[in-house]
Amino acid sequence: MSNTSKVHDDVLSRAVRSGGERGTAIVEVDHIAKTYGSGAKMHEAVRDVAFDARPGEFLCVVGPSGCGKTTLLRCLSGLMPPTSGEVRLHGRAITSPPPQMGLVFQEYNRSLFPWMSVRRNVEQPLRKRLGKADRRTAVDEALAAVGLTGHEEKYPWQLSGGMQQRVAIARAIAYRPEILLMDEPFASVDAQTRIELEDLVLEVCATYGITILFVTHDIDEAVYLADRIVVLSPPPCVVKEIVTIDLPRPRDQIATKALAEYSELRKHVFEQIVGRH
Ligand code: ADP
Ligand code: MG
Repeated sequence: MSNTSKVHDDVLSRAVRSGGERGTAIVEVDHIAKTYGSGAKMHEAVRDVAFDARPGEFLCVVGPSGCGKTTLLRCLSGLMPPTSGEVRLHGRAITSPPPQMGLVFQEYNRSLFPWMSVRRNVEQPLRKRLGKADRRTAVDEALAAVGLTGHEEKYPWQLSGGMQQRVAIARAIAYRPEILLMDEPFASVDAQTRIELEDLVLEVCATYGITILFVTHDIDEAVYLADRIVVLSPPPCVVKEIVTIDLPRPRDQIATKALAEYSELRKHVFEQIVGRH
């Protein structure tokens, strides 16, 4: 074995080993299963998924299309009860969407209110929480963080897809969630915008110390963003492996992706997902 591949093997075995270690968990996903319907219409979407998320962690969940990722996130957010198993936040079972949790979905055009301005969209979840002046400051800050200062009075339909997704991210961060759940948030934007939004979310996560659970089918995206990746099997999904991504931070679209370790980890996750090993 060459020295270089020895180094890479070490990276991988360390990555896979440490994926199983337990730290202080903020979210515990305790053997979730979800079956839709009943009788002849029964459909098993999630078979058995268990993992923990640690405070401030960027955790990616990766799996093939249709493997049950959205189902899993709906159970995690308390929007839908699992058929069995439990999700806990700070040790307490989640039975409805907890106030500490923010959500960003793939379809930004369905998550924003088209009849409300950018400012009002971002402000909406804060209405019960903050007074008018504080709301204004929080919205201004969040819009500045996503580079949308000056677009406050526009309507979603006056913005590009990438800008609309920025509004959705601004709304999530203005709310200052402890945990942000994101379901393939960049799947519907062009490649250039996607790169910008990936870096934006990394920055937001680091600045505000938010724990992020990020679902994607895109292996490159997961390896680039994550501290750990939960790799799901084909449907109905189980956890195939939890891989630690100890690539240096801050990540950089060119420098990080040029690292030999990045390629090795990417190859490893790819093999797990396509089943070649
Ligand atoms: P992914 O997000 O990984 O693409 P989903 O969680 O959306 O996967 O779907 C997993 C499986 O569950 C799919 O076969 C899908 O058709 C099915 N499914 C999703 N939502 C429902 C539902 N509300 N009722 C019945 N089946 C569903
Ligand atoms: Mg999905």
